[in-house]
Amino acid sequence: MKVPLLDLKAQYKTLKNELDEALIRTAESQYFILGPEVEKLEKSMCEYLDCKYAIGVSSGTDALLIALMAIDIKPGDEIIVPTYSFFATAGVVSRMNAIPIFVDSNPVTYNIDVKSIENKITSKTKAIIPVHLYGQSAEMDEITALAKKHNLKVIEDGAQAIGVQYKDGRKVGNHGDIGCFSFFPSKNLGCFGDGGLVITNNDELGAKLRIMRVHGGKPKYYHKIIGGNFRLDAIQAAVLNVKLPHLDSWSEKRRKNAGLYTKLFMESGVAGKEGITEFSSKEKVLLPGAIYKDSGFKNYHIYNQYVIRVQNRDDVRKHLTEKEVSTEIYYPVPFHKQECFASLKSRFENTSFVNSERASNETIALPIYPELRDEQIEFVVETIIQFISFIK
Ligand SMILES: *Cc1c(COP(=O)(O)O)cnc(C)c1O
Repeated sequence: MKVPLLDLKAQYKTLKNELDEALIRTAESQYFILGPEVEKLEKSMCEYLDCKYAIGVSSGTDALLIALMAIDIKPGDEIIVPTYSFFATAGVVSRMNAIPIFVDSNPVTYNIDVKSIENKITSKTKAIIPVHLYGQSAEMDEITALAKKHNLKVIEDGAQAIGVQYKDGRKVGNHGDIGCFSFFPSKNLGCFGDGGLVITNNDELGAKLRIMRVHGGKPKYYHKIIGGNFRLDAIQAAVLNVKLPHLDSWSEKRRKNAGLYTKLFMESGVAGKEGITEFSSKEKVLLPGAIYKDSGFKNYHIYNQYVIRVQNRDDVRKHLTEKEVSTEIYYPVPFHKQECFASLKSRFENTSFVNSERASNETIALPIYPELRDEQIEFVVETIIQFISFIK
């Protein structure tokens, strides 16, 4: 049975008329840069995310970059990031000539291990970038408490987590100084190309981000600060304006799919309960742990990815590929092992990254997109179980 990792055409089909109309409307207006569609999106996002300022930008990566520019990161500043994330989280730090300081991940959530942050803080540390990986909030109470104690800024990388509620009910992106989001097509809310968003509840940062998005000029051609071209295209905003009202129902379907995966794996008898992190003779599949499930809030996890851990991961993946099930490895190489960061090695020689290294060797992301059918999920689980029973 063919099970793609993602099927964007299935989603497009359900909204084709409205989306096509939005594209044509933009073409007919010939209004391509910022303008009314972007303003409408920003207003809707302020409501949806319950934040004071939302500013559309050119991508999730640029959202992180403009955030670091807005908090005045200087060359040589140290910024704490999880070693296990998408490259942009650390890449933007180096692009500011600042130094990413890598921290191991939590074995249950794969988010930054909050217990390992404090002994990485030095007099040069200026910020922490927690990532809400796979669609689940990082431990923001602990992170913001540390930031307050050491006078650090917090930039949230919510690229995979738009609409996720932390255990206090507030949506992620609101807990730090600036929240960053991506509308890359594979995220829960994707546009027809690149797009992103920064949010803040701070008046000064809100005003600054807005000016920095257009090269830092206000009025136009008069520059007190230096920004860049970080603009969101009107055409992307038009697409997002059509899609945003459906985001929660898509995330709900992802949660339902995740629930089915978990149920089937549990019934198979070879999976550990959610949150178990050690393999045993019985527990051969480790399931994702949703630590805020009992918060009482619906959007405790939006499952941008459903990630399990298996031993012999590469063999399992090869077998799934042979059976036409597409999977992905997020992420095979943690930052501390990336060639481009080799010059930073002396800074983390004595740091343990055991959880991140295990994750990079053992995790596999299964198809989880909203339009996935139950039979497809059943097939994926059966295929994995069969193979795992065979290799034991
Ligand atoms: C996708 C992603 C980004 C970058 O977003 P782009 O829109 O692709 O630039 C940053 N961080 C994380 C964790 C992501 O998943």
